[in-house]
Amino acid sequence: MTGPASLIMGVGNDAAVLVASSHYRHRHYGPNHPLAIPRVSLTLDLIHAYNALTEHEFMEGRPATVAELCRFHAPDYVHALSRAEAFGHATDEDRYRHHFGNAENPWFPGVFYTPALATGSSILGAEVVLGGRRAFSPAGGMHHALPDRARGFCYFNDVVLAILRLKESGLRVLYLDLDAHHGDGVEQAFANDPNVFTLSLHMDTAYAYPFRGGTITDQGGPTGEAACLNVPLPTGTHDMEYRLVFDVVWPRVLAQFRPDVVVLQAGTDALFADPLGRLDLTTNEFLRVIGAVVRDAKRLLVVGGGGYHPLLLARCWTGVWGLLSGRSLPDEIPVEGVAALRAADWDRDEDEPYYHRYFTHRLDEPRERMVRSALLELLERLRAVHPVLHDL
Ligand SMILES: [Zn+2]
Repeated sequence: MTGPASLIMGVGNDAAVLVASSHYRHRHYGPNHPLAIPRVSLTLDLIHAYNALTEHEFMEGRPATVAELCRFHAPDYVHALSRAEAFGHATDEDRYRHHFGNAENPWFPGVFYTPALATGSSILGAEVVLGGRRAFSPAGGMHHALPDRARGFCYFNDVVLAILRLKESGLRVLYLDLDAHHGDGVEQAFANDPNVFTLSLHMDTAYAYPFRGGTITDQGGPTGEAACLNVPLPTGTHDMEYRLVFDVVWPRVLAQFRPDVVVLQAGTDALFADPLGRLDLTTNEFLRVIGAVVRDAKRLLVVGGGGYHPLLLARCWTGVWGLLSGRSLPDEIPVEGVAALRAADWDRDEDEPYYHRYFTHRLDEPRERMVRSALLELLERLRAVHPVLHDL
């Protein structure tokens, strides 16, 4: 890249690779589904508007093979999805045994290919990381999928398969899940694995999906050695509170587990205006956390995840890419980016005072608030139950 734009935006230094595909320009999941919104494509458009992606930094995703999928998923489930795509519908048995073909995990054209592509892309991302660069697979992060069934909009668990790929090379993996929902599928997959530690900050399942697990007393570890740390957050958790918790938990987990690689699930449904989330983070705090992880992780794979507000998501993931690729992107959104965001035609919260800012600035208005006693109590209880925090 040459010319004045490169001076303003900062040239990528080949530190990172973005793995994605034009396939995500098509709408999936069918009408009325929370995921039937532009996510990866809008993110790419905004990154492009910032002139923040060189050819050398982009890699076309590839679908995972059946053999790869079957390293975690049951063959009959993999074949059921493949069959449902070929025959154009899900059967009653698919609905009953594999939990797809319903409102939560609908049948749609590409019901096999689309999640297989996200999975192959995250595996490819893992291979990029093994090659020494950071990687971002924004279509990935499908953390709820189970070996034999779809769950919570997730069909194949690309996160588990990417972690397996990293483990194959003998690496100790720290999985950090920032999605507003508990990263249960990944936690379960590695509950008995001393070489994978899962850290999830999420809405307390007392009030949020998946409505079980991930509580203060669910801290894993079959033999007393903790394999996970769950931080169930109250509704309305805001920047100051999130910062307090993250800054206590993150360095301790890192110091005690000493991972070779971090896999970060960057679902954006913890952001303040997400239609399915009930946390209250700004993009600023979310990206501060990503920045800390970029700084501290020896190797880093970032995958996507939830996020049901396309404008917040695209702004946020553009910021994630900026941090991974070593660019400092201006806060003000370039004209082409404004046009891309406007074209998303999102008017759900247009009466809110912050709405206009989605189109003009990449970051949000900072908000200073008091930390509530509920958060201090949460930290105290975590300290009491979790060996990683005993020094607190
Ligand atoms: Zn989520």
